[in-house]
Amino acid sequence: NTVKKAGWQLEHSYASLPNTFFSKITPAPAQSPELIVLNEQLADSLGLDSEELKEEEGVQILAGSQTPENGLPLAQAYAGHQFGHFTMLGDGRALLHGEQITPDGRRVDIQLKGSGRTPYSRGGDGRAALGPMLREYIISEAMHALGIPTTRSLAVVKTGEPVFRESVLTGAVLTRTASSHLRVGTFEYALNRGSMNDLRALADYTIDRHYPEVRETENPYLMLLREVVTRQASLIAKWQLAGFIHGVMNSDNMALSGETIDYGPCAFMNIYDPKTVFSSIDARGRYAYGRQSIMAEWNLSRFAEALVPLIDENQEKAVELAQTEISRFPEQFNEYWIQGMRAKLGLFTEETEDEALITDLLNLMQEHEADYTNTFLALTFNKLDDSGLFTDSRFASWQEQWLERIGRQNESEESARQLMCDHNPAVIPRNHHVEEALEAAEKNGDYSVMNQLLDVLSEPYAHTREQEKYSAPPAPTLVPYRTYCG
Ligand code: AMP
Ligand code: MG
Ligand code: MG
Repeated sequence: NTVKKAGWQLEHSYASLPNTFFSKITPAPAQSPELIVLNEQLADSLGLDSEELKEEEGVQILAGSQTPENGLPLAQAYAGHQFGHFTMLGDGRALLHGEQITPDGRRVDIQLKGSGRTPYSRGGDGRAALGPMLREYIISEAMHALGIPTTRSLAVVKTGEPVFRESVLTGAVLTRTASSHLRVGTFEYALNRGSMNDLRALADYTIDRHYPEVRETENPYLMLLREVVTRQASLIAKWQLAGFIHGVMNSDNMALSGETIDYGPCAFMNIYDPKTVFSSIDARGRYAYGRQSIMAEWNLSRFAEALVPLIDENQEKAVELAQTEISRFPEQFNEYWIQGMRAKLGLFTEETEDEALITDLLNLMQEHEADYTNTFLALTFNKLDDSGLFTDSRFASWQEQWLERIGRQNESEESARQLMCDHNPAVIPRNHHVEEALEAAEKNGDYSVMNQLLDVLSEPYAHTREQEKYSAPPAPTLVPYRTYCG
């Protein structure tokens, strides 16, 4: 029973991979699906008709109870290092309807998360709860608006069925879109499970889908590694600049497209501190804010290991070539990060002392427990109140240096300020606002709090009056904020 409406244009290039990479599945009908939120702008850009998606059949598709025209529901196989330990995994609670070909010719994965058990579910129920799915919706859309590459969220539907966690929760399905769901873990799976042919097929597929420009180079697999390293360096720098903490950077949660993927226990930092961790399952701080680039490099090494058999027949030489590519990461990351920090400080030009200027500020922020986002806003709008950091005489001399530095550029002070406005968000999805929105939704079925928040987050560089209401950091609490995997 496929549905012919709403503009679905699905293809299935992933299903042309050897069948060790996926399992076809029969979707499990949800009892009484109800649409909670639909991203109409995103639907439009995908060539989907929002009005038809809202109709009963449309919602059935978003719940995984029906298959869209030309749909071929499957679960993807992958492996991964979870907190450093290798495991065979796979979509345990997700299905891929297919790849939507958009009006502008892009190929976009349409994946449902929380759609039921699959052959990879192990002990899990294959389901998801409303709160965590709305959380992913809010934060992924905020990331997109901040200009950070990410999977996106098309819709959340309630299934009408309970989900059993520590308590009984409302079941829900998120429709996630991604330029693909190929992960470092997909390659780890191929290395451990597949044949050389499978591994090569996967690498060729990844190149065709995301890096066609390396196809004609002398060593496409080595160049694939180089390009993935560069995209991750750029991505992680953007996370750092925005104060985003992914929370569970397992190698199965690193997408080869360079998009942020898997919003579980992620959160944005308030007070600047590299040691910040929010995730309840990261007691040792493996994925702390200040360690994200290190962990990205670690994951990229796992990717490199999987490519080694393809890079050169001489394995010793292949390892050496791969290591050289990995060793570029720290410097690339740092370069992207400094470049982003310059913009946050209104700097158009490059001087060697810039890095010291940046770290001096961050060190002072850390010492004074200053709010990360708001410190940059205060500098942007020259609203330096008489709170800790700004009363420190060392800040005064830092500020003097900074203003001199701005004065040494040809660009006017006004353009420097505009650059800062464009790179320092007025709002981030602060944990307390996200929680407020989720609580209203879960407890009272009131989605207005969430919709207002989504609205405010959709243009973070607009610096409107409305946004000011959302910029206050949370009141200090005795119990630290903790995020959970849903
Ligand atoms: P994550 O920590 O979100 O990256 O998920 C790790 C693995 O656990 C993935 O293979 C998920 O599909 C699987 N998983 C998470 N929650 C469930 C669930 N409720 N039922 C089945 N599998 C799950
Ligand atoms: Mg995952
Ligand atoms: Mg997850």
